[in-house]
Amino acid sequence: MQTPATIVLGSVNMDLVIRGSRLPLPGETILGGEFFQAPGGKGANQAVAAARAAQTSVAFIAAVGDDNFGKLSIDGFVADRLDVSEIRTIPDCATGIALILVDASGQNMISVASGANSRLAPADVDAVPDSLFQNARVFLCSLETPIETVRRGLERARDFGLTTILNPAPADRRILEGDLLSLVDILTPNETELSLLTGRPLPEGANSPDSSPIRAGALELQNRGCATVIATLGAEGCLVVADTVWSAAAFRVTAVDATAAGDAFNGALAVGLAEGRLLPDAVRFASAAAALSVTHSGAQPSLPPRFTIQRLLDLSADDRVSEGKNR
Ligand code: ADP
Repeated sequence: MQTPATIVLGSVNMDLVIRGSRLPLPGETILGGEFFQAPGGKGANQAVAAARAAQTSVAFIAAVGDDNFGKLSIDGFVADRLDVSEIRTIPDCATGIALILVDASGQNMISVASGANSRLAPADVDAVPDSLFQNARVFLCSLETPIETVRRGLERARDFGLTTILNPAPADRRILEGDLLSLVDILTPNETELSLLTGRPLPEGANSPDSSPIRAGALELQNRGCATVIATLGAEGCLVVADTVWSAAAFRVTAVDATAAGDAFNGALAVGLAEGRLLPDAVRFASAAAALSVTHSGAQPSLPPRFTIQRLLDLSADDRVSEGKNR
């Protein structure tokens, strides 16, 4: 197996889902409904998104418990060709679990027991061999593991000259404290996270890249120390605040389920940059992966393999050529 060019650090959950006619009230028991379980967790989704988008393996730094959910999760990662050598199995601890109730209209209630995710410690990041960082080019992390561990990961990645990406999800204002954002090359909030981090309420319908609250929010975060902010805006694409400010349109697709669009975007962005693409090209690669993910239901089942990402990019390049000819 080739040495991974991309390292992802983050959470692993097993999602236990009951889809029923309605959500229970406190103290109420509702019989009926359908149960299914699916691998999830932001870190795992992003790592799998990266592994499917990449030509080589991707390394995942994470923690699971010594239970069946942990074993199942790791089996799934191996099937996706992830490098699992840095996933810790923590004794006497449960794998992260998300209990999800969904009603007929798609409304949900979610309760998460972080389990092993909350035990992923800075010392675990210190224990990762130098060689993994030496050979990698991009480090991607999110916020479902302890912030001290995220920080240690960013520090080590920086020490080895990797490009660092922080997806600030779920939004946590502690990332604004101290110099944490100066360890981040690219911050990738969605519109809700942007609003929570900057304290700027976004008026209804303000999610276009031209919206001034979004531009102002992204610039504010950039001023706090990260070189680049990419605000992802669902079907509106994304706004990139780097040396200059520009936007990238979303690919036009028939949306079925937007779950994990951001995870698909972040995983593919990391891979695109690790392959040496320039930022606009990497953002296009990420947007194609994310658009494909919304055409299928679920989180990990919807994350596209590289050849479908490439096919969408080729098709849209053909469209651009024919648009040019018709002009
Ligand atoms: P999150 O899942 O974190 O809320 P977003 O909803 O902002 O993230 O989506 C991330 C990216 O996924 C967007 O920037 C866009 O490129 C793509 N995307 C999301 N929804 C759609 C859609 N309906 N059609 C095409 N692309 C989409």
